[in-house]
Amino acid sequence: MKYCSECGQAVCLEIPEGDNLPRYICKYCQTIHYQNPKIVAGCLLSWQDKVLLCKRAIEPRYGSWTLPAGFMENDETTAQAAAREAREEAGARSPTLELYTLHNLPHINQVYLMFRGELMDGYAEAGVESLEVGLFAESEIPWDDIAFPVIHEILEFYLQDRKTGHFPVRMGDVIRDQNNVVQIVRYQESSTIKPD
Ligand SMILES: [Zn+2]
Repeated sequence: MKYCSECGQAVCLEIPEGDNLPRYICKYCQTIHYQNPKIVAGCLLSWQDKVLLCKRAIEPRYGSWTLPAGFMENDETTAQAAAREAREEAGARSPTLELYTLHNLPHINQVYLMFRGELMDGYAEAGVESLEVGLFAESEIPWDDIAFPVIHEILEFYLQDRKTGHFPVRMGDVIRDQNNVVQIVRYQESSTIKPD
């Protein structure tokens, strides 16, 4: 951030009084511009033994496959955001949605929430952000062409849980270290979380 979105003056990066992290501050109108993580909400929709995937028509990872998901908007719930993304990217609907996964991506300041549901009428069509959409059985999933490690992880969880028909809320952290190596830390089911 270079300029204040309230008044257009240049901002500076300083720790405000009583705070402990640097923030963009406008000395002209006194606005402190807090920046916080964004929520990405999406859907894992199944039809018979298949899973709905979208081929990305946008960067990053143009041409790779992903689950329909995107940034939550103001004035909607997480489930509404997930349902909207499924409609927009894949023309897809589900009669019900259940929260299925939560992943923290601290290196890019995002939290992924994925909901699980059944693809209504088995119908999907590519929206403007998708080159194509497809229904994939386990043996057909293009593992080498999945857009992001978190999507890979969610699909793995799903295929594993589908064997038992038990779908607890799954959680994990996606960590990218200084060498750009991605590591995924899986939380055990019903585990206690140590925040540090
Ligand atoms: Zn200002």
